[in-house]
Amino acid sequence: MINIRSGEEIELIRESARMVAQSLDLAAELIGPGVTTGELDREIEDFIRSHGGTPEFKGFHGYPASICTSVNEEVVHGIPGKRVLEEESIVGIDIGVRKNGYVGDGARTFVLGEVPEEVLSLVGTTLDALLAGLEVVREGVHLSDVSNAIQRVAESRGYSVVRALAGHGVGAELHEPPEVPNYGPPGFGPILKAGMVLAIEPMINAGGPGVRTLEDGWTVVTADSRMSAHFEHTVAVSSEGADILTIA
Ligand code: MG
Repeated sequence: MINIRSGEEIELIRESARMVAQSLDLAAELIGPGVTTGELDREIEDFIRSHGGTPEFKGFHGYPASICTSVNEEVVHGIPGKRVLEEESIVGIDIGVRKNGYVGDGARTFVLGEVPEEVLSLVGTTLDALLAGLEVVREGVHLSDVSNAIQRVAESRGYSVVRALAGHGVGAELHEPPEVPNYGPPGFGPILKAGMVLAIEPMINAGGPGVRTLEDGWTVVTADSRMSAHFEHTVAVSSEGADILTIA
């Protein structure tokens, strides 16, 4: 069953999602060559806690950190630590915040220094794919209409969509129904209704769609070791379209 949130609940989710966006803005300020992923994790955890939130990822199924930092061929769920960030890399940062009982979830991929044109284009395409999905979100459309819009942008530019991972409903829990795949034919799945809240998050690969999980049990990498990018917004469905909640 997909939760329908009241206006009041959506405002509470918006508050958490806003803190996600502010945390990602902070990440944008802090990130750079020479910074460790563990430093980003600590600074962002401090920011969230000092503003009355809690980092939702910490302890989620035993996850050991507050944020995810996924570098280059890492798709998602990279664990922050001693790794020193370098020029010519891309870093996906994914953050979940709980406040007043409600959760927001969002991610951006940052580019460090000069990267090849192909990598810039991968990152830009992933953001475009997310925005194309958000354009479709509206009361009355099928969920897979959103999935299909994302897939068409990614594949029309020669990239591939990760199929093993998906977006999700979000609200009282980090992961709620429905699953939101980033691929598929239009016209399938549940019909979106006003008050549904979704975390939409394309993960797009430069090479093939295959992924595998490293021995740490968390870090998902591309099977072919080529680059991968990730953007995510939490949105509320309305009759007007997608109300993007992860905005600072
Ligand atoms: Mg998510």
